[in-house]
Amino acid sequence: MKLLEERILKDGIVKMGNVLKVDSFLNHQMDIELLNEMGKEWKRLFADEKISKILTIESSGIGIAVIAAQYFGVPVVFAKKTQTLNLDGDLYTTKVESFTHGKVYDVVVSKKFISEDDNILIIDDFLANGNALLGLTHIAEQAGAKVAGIGIGIEKRYQGGGDMMRNKGYRVESLALIERMSEKNIEFGTLN
Ligand code: 5GP
Repeated sequence: MKLLEERILKDGIVKMGNVLKVDSFLNHQMDIELLNEMGKEWKRLFADEKISKILTIESSGIGIAVIAAQYFGVPVVFAKKTQTLNLDGDLYTTKVESFTHGKVYDVVVSKKFISEDDNILIIDDFLANGNALLGLTHIAEQAGAKVAGIGIGIEKRYQGGGDMMRNKGYRVESLALIERMSEKNIEFGTLN
């Protein structure tokens, strides 16, 4: 998606440790016009799917998922990170290693909000090694829900998570695909 690529080139900052900072427009201050265009683009890409729910993970996925959900007309469920897991049987639980913080979180979703009747679209801001997506698909699996697709804002392709998920059979649509990046240069690519 040209608009997102141009914005990354204009305002993205490459930090040490392979982190692209996009906090001036995507995940701290949020440019709602841009987020609307991203939501419309996922709706166009997944037009052939009857999505019943959008699933994301707190915290930075929530903003883009909420905007996207307006184009799908469905609720958003966000997986919650917790460090004090209280296993009372009403929760789907999994573990996710955070890329940006290096910690392992227990991640939970209430059983009330996802079921085997759901056809889920997973949305997240970034895809790096794929740990967040492994956690979210594990939660959908426990619910017996179908994962119709995965919509990502920015995929850092060289970290391998996107191709790992595609090899597992998931349809992953990333609006910006970074093939390589350094402090001086960000190179975009396309699938194939
Ligand atoms: P993964 O689980 O695929 O390794 O990483 C995905 C998660 O880590 C995303 O939810 C995102 O919040 C965070 N993340 C990964 N790479 C970056 C990055 O380059 N910049 C930012 N801001 N967040 C990232």
